[in-house]
Order: sequence, then C-alpha cells, then structure tokens
Amino acid sequence: MNVSPIAELNRLLDDGLSDIAGAPNSAAVEQLRVALLGRQGTVTAKLKLIGAQPLQLRREFGAAVNRIRDELANALAQRSAGVKEEERQAKIEAQKVDVTLPGRTRHAGSLHPVSRTLRRIEKIFTRAGFDVAYGPEIEDDFHNFEALNIPKNHPARAMHDTFYVSDETVLRTHTSPVQIRYLETHTPPVAVIAPGRVYRCDSDVTHTPMFHQVEGLAVDDDISFADLKGVLVFFLEEFFERELPVRFRPSFFPFTEPSAEVDMGCVFCEGQGCRICGHSGWIEVLGCGMVHTEVFRQVGIDNELYTGYAFGLGIERLAMLRYGVDDLRLFFENEVSFLQQFG
Ligand SMILES: [Zn+2]
Repeated sequence: MNVSPIAELNRLLDDGLSDIAGAPNSAAVEQLRVALLGRQGTVTAKLKLIGAQPLQLRREFGAAVNRIRDELANALAQRSAGVKEEERQAKIEAQKVDVTLPGRTRHAGSLHPVSRTLRRIEKIFTRAGFDVAYGPEIEDDFHNFEALNIPKNHPARAMHDTFYVSDETVLRTHTSPVQIRYLETHTPPVAVIAPGRVYRCDSDVTHTPMFHQVEGLAVDDDISFADLKGVLVFFLEEFFERELPVRFRPSFFPFTEPSAEVDMGCVFCEGQGCRICGHSGWIEVLGCGMVHTEVFRQVGIDNELYTGYAFGLGIERLAMLRYGVDDLRLFFENEVSFLQQFG
C-alpha cells in the first residue's frame, strides 16, 4: 500500500521533532538543522517536489511542506536556545570556585645540601679574600699526578683508586690539579679555592664513586704554616658557627711538606666522646700542608722567593657534620623526603 505524500510529510515532522527534542548539545542541533533544512536537507528536498505534485494535490502538499518546515525551524530554534542555556550552566558549574576548599600548596624546590654547603664554603673563603677557580673533571696524568709530585709508580697512586679514561687521562681523583692549572696561569701572590666533583673507584657508607672537594691554595713571599692554621681555624669556626678546638696532626701528602691532618672538637658531643667521633672527642675534617718545592718547580715558581700552603676538604663530610647526616650515600639517592629537610 502506498503511503500518501501528506502522511509521509507528517512522519517526517514527527521524526524530526523527536530527534530535535533528543539533541544533547548545540553541535547535534546544528547537525539536525543541516540534515532537515539545509540545502541538501530532507525538508528542502520536499519543497522542491511541490511543483511535481498533481495539480489537485499541489496546494495541500505545498501548505503541508511549508508548515512542517516552519514547525521544525521553530523547534530547532527552541532546542538550540535550550542547549545553549544548559551549556552555559554547565560551564558556570565547572568554573565555580569553592572558596572553602584548602589552598593549593606551592611546592618550591630547594638547594641540594651539597650545593648549600658548597655555597657556604665559597662565601666564607671569598670573604677572606680567596678567588674561586674551576678545572676540568677529566684530567690528564700530568695535572692529576705528575705535577703534584706523584710520579708514575709512586705508591700514593695506589691510594687513589683512579678511574682511568685512557693511559694518560683520568677522572680527577682530587681537586688539587686546579692548583697546578691556576699557578700555570697566575703569578703570586695568589689565594684561591677550587671546588668541584672528584672521582674514586670506591663505594661504602663513607665513600661514593663521585664526591665533592674544595681545594685551597695561597702563595706569596712570606706565607707560613701559621697563616695556614689561622685561615683553617677561621674557616671551621665560621662554618660551624662556634668556637672549636682544632688540632693539627703530622701527616703525609706527596704535594705538601710538611703535611698535616686537621681534627676539630666533635660537634656532636662537645668533645665528650660519642659514636660519631669514635669516642675520641675529635673529628678529622681536612688535610693540608705547605706547598712542596717540587710542585713549585713543576709550574716554574721560584721556591727561594715564594712559599705557599694548600688544603683540601670534603664537602659531603662537612655537610654530614653540619646537618648530622650519618650515611654519605643519602646525598646521592635523590630521596625526596631526605632532601626536603634542607628546604
Ligand atoms: Zn663526638
């Protein structure tokens, strides 16, 4: 049975109205508008058919098509306004600020304890008139050993647990080579510290394969061991912000003569004796001495005219003592809860 053209138009209207009522958003409404009333739309297609209707049906058909076109256009306009309002409400809802919610915490970063300690050390020494110098971490054998009076086969080389890059290049085992580089390019009087990373093939509670040192060097025509003692006591008391007993024990380093190791009164037990100082009341903090004449000879400085002192200290060791950290490896594990304590 043939469906009459008018009935077909009514079905088109009913389907269109129900689709429009169910359109969930502006995009869907627009899609329906195009599908129904657009240039290729189904209602538009019916409009084009008016002229093709038999004469007796033409008027009725035309009126019906125009009516459903108007009704659908009307429904579309209403639904469009409806979804726009719904969308506006949803947007307002999404942007609503609940002023009773707790504020958002700002997670500010902070300096790593090793960097903090290093900056502190640099500040103290620059205030005492020292320059700051840097040198390469991949160092040649001459600067790392030879010029520092550690010739090939010298037993001191065995103490260094060196990482070799090649036969003639190493990861520097100490910051002392910067002394040599500085003296090669500067004439006395000089006073300089050289902080940086150093590398040794060693790893346990008190050793990591990479750690930081600060080297100190002063050369002038009348420098004595008393100057060395003075500057180190000054530094330690500034660094730990208190008066400290300090003692110098004779020691040996190939590049200084005489050489000494420096102990300070234990900052944890005030010299009473505790686990950290091995119940001695003293803690070893650095090594030092008067620059060896062989080092001066290697860099062409007249040791009849000049004397100098040098010292080297471990930055992590000082950080451990200042902050009461008992495992060196904590500095390099990037444990956030550990690092946050230094914020
Ligand atoms: Zn102690």
